[in-house]
Order: sequence, then structure tokens, then C-alpha cells
Amino acid sequence: MLKEFVDVLVIGAGPSGCVSAAYLHKNNCKIKVVEKTKFPRIVVGESLIPRVMDHFAEAELFDSLNAMNFEKKLGARFIRGNEICVFDFSNKFSEGWDWTWQVPRADFDNTMAQELIRKGIDLEFESEVIEVSFEGSNSKTIVKDRDGNLKEIHAKFIIDSSGYGRVLPRLLDLDKPSALDPHSSIFTHVKDSNRPEGEEGTLISFDVLETEVWLWVIPFSNGNTSLGVVGPTDFINSLSENKNNGEALKNAIQLSDYYIKRFGGTEFLFEPIKLENYSRSVKKMYGDGFALTGNSTEFLDPVFSSGVAFATESGMLAAKLYLKQSQQGIVVDWETEFTAYMKRGINVFTTYVKEWYTGNLQTLFFHQPENPDVKRKICAVLAGYVWDEENPFVKKHDNVIKNMAYLLNMESKK
Ligand code: FAD
Repeated sequence: MLKEFVDVLVIGAGPSGCVSAAYLHKNNCKIKVVEKTKFPRIVVGESLIPRVMDHFAEAELFDSLNAMNFEKKLGARFIRGNEICVFDFSNKFSEGWDWTWQVPRADFDNTMAQELIRKGIDLEFESEVIEVSFEGSNSKTIVKDRDGNLKEIHAKFIIDSSGYGRVLPRLLDLDKPSALDPHSSIFTHVKDSNRPEGEEGTLISFDVLETEVWLWVIPFSNGNTSLGVVGPTDFINSLSENKNNGEALKNAIQLSDYYIKRFGGTEFLFEPIKLENYSRSVKKMYGDGFALTGNSTEFLDPVFSSGVAFATESGMLAAKLYLKQSQQGIVVDWETEFTAYMKRGINVFTTYVKEWYTGNLQTLFFHQPENPDVKRKICAVLAGYVWDEENPFVKKHDNVIKNMAYLLNMESKK
């Protein structure tokens, strides 16, 4: 069997794997990326948040992405009937980027993957990891190409960024049920022929259909728009009697007073895809000779678009920690420096997701008159700056939303 020897094997060429690979390559590591599919491929996760820009800049992927003229995302709009709440990333508590992109991920991920190849990184498409074994921290990985040929890749370290492929969690029995309630989603893209002129046409929006059910509208610069419905799995399944995803999504659009006119009669560009019970978790995020990053570790919920940001945050951090131990000879405490750090951010977003679905966060978002100070602090969280403990909406995330919603609800009953 053909054998290859590398410092780091990166599994998966999504945002997490691309950021890891680009940063390691820039720092003189011999790496290999194996990707199961042929790009461009469809994947969900189209609304980014500003924190990702830090990672794309540091990994030197920003310029190639910027050249694609993806739609700029300057904030996010939440709609509930006649109520509207708009967050503007330039008006947030924490320092950091005040814009990002909303992207068709097929093109976005392909841009990054092609940029890796242009930089000289060895990236192999249609190459699937099927087996991994460890001897200490050294690993032997068997990959299968599209013709069924097998190859051995020997690596000193593996970064598993295989997303829902969850290569190492599956092979090493690391999967753990998510702490979040089971939610599901159905999504597709449409040709947005009724798109209004100006800002309205390009605004990314989350339309609350019921407390736990919402519709996403993500316009792209190519004239298409992504539409998706999210809610408890039972509700999503009840949208179509015969479990037809297209019918279910059409029925969900009918529930939106705001968007029914724009999208009510639109044809879908591809058969809507259902992602059932999408939340994931793991027992541990690293081990001797490997780290798990992105969706291969934890995925919470799409409501605050945190998925890609955690994917690039963990991808970048795993790369840096590997370099620290391999090039500087410093012993890394992965539990503190990797897991505990990532968990701090994940825990903040977990609270926000839970409080979204209890309705407490919606109480804060839609309350009138707005409280500009509260809004700036929540906006910093929505931008992904969830490690800034100067922000009380980060530091005291476990009770601040609940307490404030309670007070607002009491006040409205007076
Ligand atoms: P991926 O982007 O999934 O990439 C993993 C890659 O690994 C894939 O290309 C796959 O082909 C490859 N792979 C898998 N198995 C193997 C194997 N055995 N061998 C080799 N390669 C393999 N996030 C946001 O930020 N914004 C959003 O708006 C958003 N919306 C979402 C909506 C829904 C309904 C869901 C479920 C998720 C959403 N997400 C969103 C989350 C987002 O999709 C993920 O967090 C993000 O794509 C994770 O990136 P990644 O690099 O970890 O994995």
C-alpha cells in the first residue's frame, strides 16, 4: 500500500480544516488535507459572524475570500410579527470586526480549498478516511480514493475537522448526546426574483413564526437566497404529512407574514434538505496525537450563526497549540488551553440558544423602548466576541438574560 509521511493530517476541507491547514503551512509544517467529497459541494452554514474574520485574516485566507465579493453582512435582523430588532455590528460593546459575509458555502469553501492548493498545500479531494490507529501520538490513517485505492498516511498529529463525518468521535467512541433539545431544519436556495431594491433585499433575517420556530432568509450576492425553517423535530416533521421536505418548507413560508409575498411562489433551486436533530457533542476534544475541531466536536444550533466561528476558532487554536508543542517544545495542557477555552465560548452561546427557545431572549430583543446599552452588549455576543469577560452579558451569561426578561415581563403585567 502506498505510504505518505506528514507532520499533521487534517481531515476535512471545511472552514475549520482550511484555517488549520493554512496556518500550519504558513508556519512550516508538512501537512496533508484529505477531503471526502469533490468541491464545490453543498453544505449549510451560510450566515457568518464577525469573529471569523480574525481567523481568516490570521490564516491569510482573507484576501482570496474578499476577492469573491460575497454579500457583506453588517448585522442581523430579527422579526416577530410587526416587531423588528436590528443589530448593527459596528455598535457593539467589544473591540473587533464589525462586518462579515453571508455566503453560499459551496463557493466559499471551494475558494478556501483552492487557495490552500495555490499556497502549495497537499489537498486531496474524493479521499475518505476509513480507519485510524494510534501508536502513542503517532498515527496511521487509511484513506480510500474515488477509485477504491487505499493509502496509508503516517502523521505525528491529526486535526479532525470532518464536520458531521465525525471521523474520530465515531472511531474512538467519543460521541455524547447534546444538552440541547432535539431540533431540526429544512433548507434550500431560491432565485430571489422578487428581491426588493436596496438594503431590504440584502438583509439577513430571522423571522420568528412561533417561540421555538423560525425561518432564516440569507440573501447572497449572486442573486440567490437561502431559506430555512428551524424548530423542534416534532414540529418540523408535522409540516408535511407525507414527510416531503419541499412541501414542508413551502408550508413554513406560508406562516411568515413578512416573507410570504417575496417567497410564497418561488421555485426551489434544489430539493430542500432536512437536517434532523442536528446538535452534537463529544466526551473529549483531544487525545494523544489528535484534536477535534469544528462540527466534529460540538454543534449547538443555527439561531445565532455560531457554527463556523467555533469551527475556525477551534481550528486555529488546535494548529497553534500543536505548533507550540512541536516547534517550541513546550508542554501543552490541552485540557486548559484547548477544551476549557473552547468551552467558555460554547457555554455562553449555549445559554443564548436555550434562552432564545425559552422566549426570554426574544423578550429582550423585542422590548420597546430599546435599551441601547443592553443591545450593544448582546450585539458583541452575536458578533462572536464571547471570550470578553468585561462584557457582563458574557461573564454573567447564566443569569443575566433570565433575570432581565423576568423584570421586563413583570413590568409589562403592571
Ligand atoms: P464542514 O464544513 O461540515 O466540513 C467538514 C468536511 O469534512 C466536509 O467537507 C466533509 O466532506 C469532510 N469529511 C467528512 N467525513 C470525512 C472523511 N471520512 N474523510 C475525509 N473528509 C471527510 N453555522 C454558521 O456559522 N452559520 C449558519 O448560518 C449556520 N446555519 C446552520 C444551519 C443548520 C440547520 C445547521 C445544522 C448548521 C448550521 N451551521 C451554521 C453550522 C455549520 O454548518 C457548521 O458549524 C460548519 O459548517 C462547521 O464547519 P466544519 O469545518 O467543522 O465542518
